[in-house]
Amino acid sequence: MPELPEVETVVKGISKELTGATVTNVHTTRKDIRYPFPSGLLDLVGARITGVERRAKYILIHLSNDHTLLVHLGMSGRIRFVENGYVPQKHDHFLLSADNNQTMVFNDTRRFGFVDLELTAQLTSSRHLSHLGFEPFDAKLDAESLSTLMNKAKTPIKSFLLNQKNIVGIGNIYACEALFLSGIHPKTPACTLSKKKTAELLKNIRLILEKAIWAGGSTLRDYILVDGSLGRFQFTFNVYDRENALCTNPECGHTIKRIVQSGRSTFYCPSCQKNA
Ligand SMILES: [Zn+2]
Repeated sequence: MPELPEVETVVKGISKELTGATVTNVHTTRKDIRYPFPSGLLDLVGARITGVERRAKYILIHLSNDHTLLVHLGMSGRIRFVENGYVPQKHDHFLLSADNNQTMVFNDTRRFGFVDLELTAQLTSSRHLSHLGFEPFDAKLDAESLSTLMNKAKTPIKSFLLNQKNIVGIGNIYACEALFLSGIHPKTPACTLSKKKTAELLKNIRLILEKAIWAGGSTLRDYILVDGSLGRFQFTFNVYDRENALCTNPECGHTIKRIVQSGRSTFYCPSCQKNA
Protein backbone atom coordinates (compact mmCIF):
# COMPACT_ATOMS: atom_id res chain seq x y z
CA MET A 1 0.00 0.00 0.00
CA PRO A 2 1.45 3.40 -0.91
CA GLU A 3 2.40 5.29 2.26
CA LEU A 4 3.00 9.01 2.76
CA PRO A 5 6.55 8.99 1.32
CA GLU A 6 5.40 7.23 -1.84
CA VAL A 7 2.45 9.60 -2.24
CA GLU A 8 4.76 12.58 -1.69
CA THR A 9 7.00 11.28 -4.46
CA VAL A 10 4.05 10.77 -6.82
CA VAL A 11 2.85 14.31 -6.05
CA LYS A 12 6.24 15.73 -6.99
CA GLY A 13 6.13 13.76 -10.24
CA ILE A 14 2.63 14.94 -11.16
CA SER A 15 3.55 18.51 -10.29
CA LYS A 16 6.58 18.35 -12.57
CA GLU A 17 4.56 17.02 -15.50
CA LEU A 18 1.32 18.97 -15.17
CA THR A 19 1.72 22.27 -13.30
CA GLY A 20 0.97 25.12 -15.69
CA ALA A 21 -0.54 22.85 -18.35
CA THR A 22 -4.14 23.04 -19.53
CA VAL A 23 -6.47 20.05 -19.47
CA THR A 24 -7.47 18.95 -22.97
CA ASN A 25 -9.36 15.75 -22.18
CA VAL A 26 -10.59 13.61 -19.30
CA HIS A 27 -11.57 10.01 -19.87
CA THR A 28 -12.83 7.22 -17.63
CA THR A 29 -13.03 3.57 -18.66
CA ARG A 30 -15.72 2.54 -16.16
CA LYS A 31 -18.36 4.13 -13.91
CA ASP A 32 -16.50 3.74 -10.64
CA ILE A 33 -13.35 2.65 -8.87
CA ARG A 34 -13.93 2.49 -5.11
CA TYR A 35 -16.55 5.22 -5.51
CA PRO A 36 -18.37 6.36 -8.64
CA PHE A 37 -16.46 8.95 -10.64
CA PRO A 38 -17.81 12.43 -9.85
CA SER A 39 -19.90 14.29 -12.36
CA GLY A 40 -18.35 17.39 -13.87
CA LEU A 41 -15.05 15.81 -14.86
CA LEU A 42 -15.48 17.05 -18.44
CA ASP A 43 -15.84 20.61 -17.12
CA LEU A 44 -12.14 20.41 -16.33
CA VAL A 45 -11.32 20.62 -20.02
CA GLY A 46 -9.88 24.07 -20.63
CA ALA A 47 -8.86 24.59 -17.00
CA ARG A 48 -5.21 25.14 -16.13
CA ILE A 49 -3.46 23.06 -13.48
CA THR A 50 -2.29 25.62 -10.97
CA GLY A 51 -0.54 23.33 -8.51
CA VAL A 52 -0.29 19.83 -7.05
CA GLU A 53 -0.18 19.13 -3.33
CA ARG A 54 -0.41 16.29 -0.85
CA ARG A 55 -2.67 16.16 2.19
CA ALA A 56 -2.29 12.91 4.15
CA LYS A 57 -2.36 10.32 1.37
CA TYR A 58 -4.54 12.41 -0.94
CA ILE A 59 -3.11 13.86 -4.14
CA LEU A 60 -4.66 17.28 -4.70
CA ILE A 61 -4.55 18.66 -8.24
CA HIS A 62 -5.67 22.28 -8.14
CA LEU A 63 -7.32 23.77 -11.21
CA SER A 64 -7.98 27.31 -12.41
CA ASN A 65 -11.78 26.70 -12.46
CA ASP A 66 -11.91 26.76 -8.63
CA HIS A 67 -11.99 22.97 -8.40
CA THR A 68 -9.51 20.47 -7.04
CA LEU A 69 -9.20 16.94 -8.31
CA LEU A 70 -8.55 14.49 -5.46
CA VAL A 71 -6.80 11.24 -6.23
CA HIS A 72 -6.30 8.47 -3.68
CA LEU A 73 -4.10 5.51 -4.62
CA GLY A 74 -5.82 3.08 -2.24
CA MET A 75 -3.99 -0.25 -2.00
CA SER A 76 -2.65 -0.67 -5.51
CA GLY A 77 -3.19 2.59 -7.39
CA ARG A 78 -0.47 3.71 -9.75
CA ILE A 79 0.09 6.85 -11.74
CA ARG A 80 2.04 6.84 -14.95
CA PHE A 81 2.61 9.43 -17.63
CA VAL A 82 2.37 8.79 -21.32
CA GLU A 83 3.68 11.28 -23.87
CA ASN A 84 1.60 10.77 -27.04
CA GLY A 85 0.84 7.21 -28.25
CA TYR A 86 -1.21 5.94 -25.30
CA VAL A 87 -1.43 2.15 -25.27
CA PRO A 88 -4.27 0.95 -23.01
CA GLN A 89 -3.30 -1.37 -20.18
CA LYS A 90 -5.56 -3.60 -18.11
CA HIS A 91 -6.90 -1.68 -15.07
CA ASP A 92 -6.37 1.80 -16.56
CA HIS A 93 -9.43 3.58 -15.13
CA PHE A 94 -8.83 7.31 -15.48
CA LEU A 95 -6.90 9.44 -17.98
CA LEU A 96 -6.25 13.14 -17.92
CA SER A 97 -4.55 14.69 -20.94
CA ALA A 98 -2.94 18.11 -21.09
CA ASP A 99 -1.85 20.51 -23.81
CA ASN A 100 1.82 19.60 -23.24
CA ASN A 101 1.07 16.16 -24.77
CA GLN A 102 1.27 14.46 -21.37
CA THR A 103 -1.45 12.06 -20.30
CA MET A 104 -1.71 11.06 -16.67
CA VAL A 105 -3.02 7.50 -16.36
CA PHE A 106 -4.48 6.12 -13.12
CA ASN A 107 -4.25 2.33 -12.99
CA ASP A 108 -5.59 0.33 -10.06
CA THR A 109 -5.83 -3.46 -10.06
CA ARG A 110 -7.61 -3.81 -6.71
CA ARG A 111 -9.76 -0.68 -7.12
CA PHE A 112 -9.50 0.67 -3.57
CA GLY A 113 -8.34 3.97 -4.97
CA PHE A 114 -10.63 6.74 -6.19
CA VAL A 115 -10.89 10.08 -7.93
CA ASP A 116 -13.12 12.89 -6.68
CA LEU A 117 -13.76 16.53 -7.39
CA GLU A 118 -14.26 19.28 -4.81
CA LEU A 119 -14.57 23.04 -4.83
CA THR A 120 -11.11 24.22 -3.77
CA ALA A 121 -12.59 26.65 -1.25
CA GLN A 122 -14.43 23.78 0.47
CA LEU A 123 -11.59 21.30 0.34
CA THR A 124 -10.62 21.29 4.02
CA SER A 125 -14.23 20.75 5.09
CA SER A 126 -14.82 18.02 2.50
CA ARG A 127 -15.76 14.50 3.58
CA HIS A 128 -12.30 13.26 2.68
CA LEU A 129 -10.17 15.82 4.49
CA SER A 130 -12.24 17.26 7.34
CA HIS A 131 -11.28 14.65 9.96
CA LEU A 132 -7.54 14.62 9.30
CA GLY A 133 -5.00 15.48 11.98
CA PHE A 134 -1.63 17.21 11.77
CA GLU A 135 0.69 16.78 8.82
CA PRO A 136 3.91 15.29 10.26
CA PHE A 137 5.99 18.23 8.98
CA ASP A 138 3.50 20.93 10.00
CA ALA A 139 5.35 23.65 11.94
CA LYS A 140 2.38 23.80 14.33
CA LEU A 141 3.12 20.22 15.34
CA ASP A 142 5.73 20.40 18.09
CA ALA A 143 6.40 18.57 21.35
CA GLU A 144 3.96 20.90 23.10
CA SER A 145 0.99 20.36 20.76
CA LEU A 146 1.75 16.66 20.48
CA SER A 147 1.82 16.31 24.28
CA THR A 148 -1.55 18.06 24.48
CA LEU A 149 -2.99 15.56 21.99
CA MET A 150 -1.43 12.60 23.79
CA ASN A 151 -2.64 13.67 27.20
CA LYS A 152 -6.18 12.89 26.05
CA ALA A 153 -5.25 9.46 24.73
CA LYS A 154 -5.26 6.36 26.92
CA THR A 155 -4.56 4.21 23.84
CA PRO A 156 -1.16 2.58 23.33
CA ILE A 157 1.29 4.93 21.63
CA LYS A 158 1.51 2.66 18.57
CA SER A 159 -2.26 2.90 17.97
CA PHE A 160 -2.13 6.64 18.65
CA LEU A 161 0.46 7.09 15.90
CA LEU A 162 -1.59 5.11 13.36
CA ASN A 163 -4.74 7.14 14.02
CA GLN A 164 -5.06 9.67 11.18
CA LYS A 165 -7.13 11.97 13.40
CA ASN A 166 -3.94 12.65 15.41
CA ILE A 167 -1.16 12.76 12.83
CA VAL A 168 -1.58 11.69 9.22
CA GLY A 169 0.67 9.50 7.17
CA ILE A 170 2.53 7.47 9.78
CA GLY A 171 2.06 3.98 8.38
CA ASN A 172 2.73 0.78 10.28
CA ILE A 173 6.38 0.53 9.20
CA TYR A 174 7.18 4.10 10.19
CA ALA A 175 5.40 3.83 13.55
CA CYS A 176 7.36 0.67 14.47
CA GLU A 177 10.68 2.17 13.40
CA ALA A 178 10.13 5.54 15.12
CA LEU A 179 9.22 3.82 18.41
CA PHE A 180 12.36 1.68 18.21
CA LEU A 181 14.62 4.70 17.58
CA SER A 182 12.98 6.46 20.52
CA GLY A 183 13.27 3.46 22.87
CA ILE A 184 9.53 3.49 23.55
CA HIS A 185 7.57 0.29 24.17
CA PRO A 186 4.64 0.18 21.66
CA LYS A 187 2.13 -0.61 24.42
CA THR A 188 2.97 2.51 26.45
CA PRO A 189 -0.24 4.52 26.98
CA ALA A 190 0.16 7.71 24.92
CA CYS A 191 -0.90 9.89 27.86
CA THR A 192 1.99 8.69 30.04
CA LEU A 193 4.80 9.72 27.68
CA SER A 194 7.10 12.40 29.12
CA LYS A 195 7.57 15.62 27.19
CA LYS A 196 11.20 14.72 26.58
CA LYS A 197 10.26 11.36 25.06
CA THR A 198 7.48 13.00 23.04
CA ALA A 199 9.99 15.44 21.54
CA GLU A 200 12.36 12.59 20.74
CA LEU A 201 9.58 10.56 19.13
CA LEU A 202 8.49 13.47 16.93
CA LYS A 203 12.10 14.03 15.85
CA ASN A 204 12.44 10.35 14.90
CA ILE A 205 9.11 10.24 13.03
CA ARG A 206 10.31 13.14 10.88
CA LEU A 207 13.74 11.60 10.42
CA ILE A 208 12.29 8.33 9.11
CA LEU A 209 9.74 9.97 6.84
CA GLU A 210 12.38 12.31 5.43
CA LYS A 211 14.66 9.38 4.74
CA ALA A 212 11.86 7.52 2.97
CA ILE A 213 10.85 10.57 0.92
CA TRP A 214 14.48 11.07 -0.06
CA ALA A 215 14.81 7.41 -1.05
CA GLY A 216 11.56 7.62 -3.00
CA GLY A 217 12.70 10.76 -4.78
CA SER A 218 15.75 8.98 -6.09
CA THR A 219 13.59 6.36 -7.81
CA LEU A 220 11.08 8.90 -9.13
CA ARG A 221 12.04 8.56 -12.78
CA ASP A 222 11.77 4.80 -12.72
CA TYR A 223 8.30 4.58 -11.44
CA ILE A 224 6.44 7.59 -12.50
CA LEU A 225 7.69 7.97 -16.04
CA VAL A 226 8.41 4.47 -17.20
CA ASP A 227 6.20 1.75 -15.80
CA GLY A 228 4.10 3.45 -13.14
CA SER A 229 5.05 0.95 -10.48
CA LEU A 230 6.01 1.99 -6.98
CA GLY A 231 9.64 1.23 -6.21
CA ARG A 232 10.64 -0.16 -2.85
CA PHE A 233 12.53 2.18 -0.62
CA GLN A 234 16.17 1.40 -0.26
CA PHE A 235 16.67 1.43 3.44
CA THR A 236 16.87 -1.37 5.89
CA PHE A 237 14.53 -1.63 8.82
CA ASN A 238 15.61 -2.01 12.44
CA VAL A 239 12.52 -3.86 13.62
CA TYR A 240 9.85 -3.97 10.93
CA ASP A 241 9.31 -7.50 9.55
CA ARG A 242 12.28 -8.80 11.59
CA GLU A 243 10.57 -11.14 14.08
CA ASN A 244 13.13 -13.37 15.85
CA ALA A 245 16.04 -11.58 14.16
CA LEU A 246 18.80 -10.10 16.29
CA CYS A 247 18.31 -6.50 17.47
CA THR A 248 20.40 -4.07 15.40
CA ASN A 249 21.69 -2.40 18.57
CA PRO A 250 25.15 -4.06 18.89
CA GLU A 251 25.02 -3.81 22.70
CA CYS A 252 21.60 -5.49 22.97
CA GLY A 253 21.74 -9.19 21.99
CA HIS A 254 17.94 -9.66 22.21
CA THR A 255 15.69 -10.69 19.35
CA ILE A 256 12.84 -8.70 17.80
CA LYS A 257 9.33 -9.62 18.95
CA ARG A 258 6.06 -9.34 17.07
CA ILE A 259 2.71 -8.57 18.69
CA VAL A 260 -0.64 -7.61 17.19
CA GLN A 261 -2.14 -4.22 18.09
CA SER A 262 -5.40 -2.96 16.58
CA GLY A 263 -5.17 -5.75 14.04
CA ARG A 264 -1.71 -4.72 12.83
CA SER A 265 1.65 -6.36 13.46
CA THR A 266 3.96 -4.44 15.76
CA PHE A 267 7.66 -5.28 15.79
CA TYR A 268 9.82 -4.15 18.69
CA CYS A 269 12.84 -4.98 20.83
CA PRO A 270 11.75 -5.92 24.36
CA SER A 271 15.11 -4.79 25.76
CA CYS A 272 15.71 -1.48 23.92
CA GLN A 273 12.06 -0.38 24.13
CA LYS A 274 10.98 -0.04 27.74
CA ASN A 275 7.90 1.75 28.91
CA ALA A 276 8.68 5.44 28.83
ZN1 LIG B 1 17.47 -4.27 21.36
